[in-house]
Amino acid sequence: MTKFYRLRAPRNSKYTGTLNAGHKWGSLPGLRCPECGATWAGGMTAYPGVDLSTLAERGEYEKPRPEPFDEFVRLRELVRPLVPPGGQLLPGAKFGPLVGTATGTFSPLFFYYVEMPLLHREALERLQAEGVRGLRGFQTELRFRQKKHPELLELEILPHGRLHPDCTPPDRRPPCPKCGWEDFAFPEEPILDAASLPTHTDLFRLSDFETIFIATERFVDAVRRLDLDELAIREVPVR
Ligand SMILES: [Zn+2]
Repeated sequence: MTKFYRLRAPRNSKYTGTLNAGHKWGSLPGLRCPECGATWAGGMTAYPGVDLSTLAERGEYEKPRPEPFDEFVRLRELVRPLVPPGGQLLPGAKFGPLVGTATGTFSPLFFYYVEMPLLHREALERLQAEGVRGLRGFQTELRFRQKKHPELLELEILPHGRLHPDCTPPDRRPPCPKCGWEDFAFPEEPILDAASLPTHTDLFRLSDFETIFIATERFVDAVRRLDLDELAIREVPVR
């Protein structure tokens, strides 16, 4: 059975890249749930390939704010046909290419911002040539402060797969049946739920923790073989 790894930006980096950027069309608003009482956003998945230019309501995604549950659902369902099938649309999900400014140096794999994972175009092409599956890179509209810079693409990394119940608190309450809200900390010793893991892609986020990137052995082997900077890589057991 294939192994799985958590990918993170390393704690210390020789790269200096910073972004002052966001997604062109904005995001789904937060929601206020009448059932559980939670007001929340926190969806970290970006859909950089989504184009809202033909949607009359596109202005309603520009400003982050909480909305009543039914209004949130209306705005969510308007964009559902535009995102990849099965795409999880949590409050806060982001749409469109990255716009803004970039400064400093960027590693070939630059995962410092979980809502905008970036990589060099050349790194994407080399990973794909190695047979890594499911990588989709999108052109950014970033402006650089310096003349010499790599071509940075944004990866669309979709949520798939979940934590195994054995690694989450025994008193973990089921998610809110209306809005899906769940409140627990990411475990120190995570375990992945084997039955939930995708078989068609070598890179994904967890559905129940969109901030967590998981890659397969195939992805990690290729990154190491190609010597691509710079990710902290740690195996996560599967059950
Ligand atoms: Zn709720």
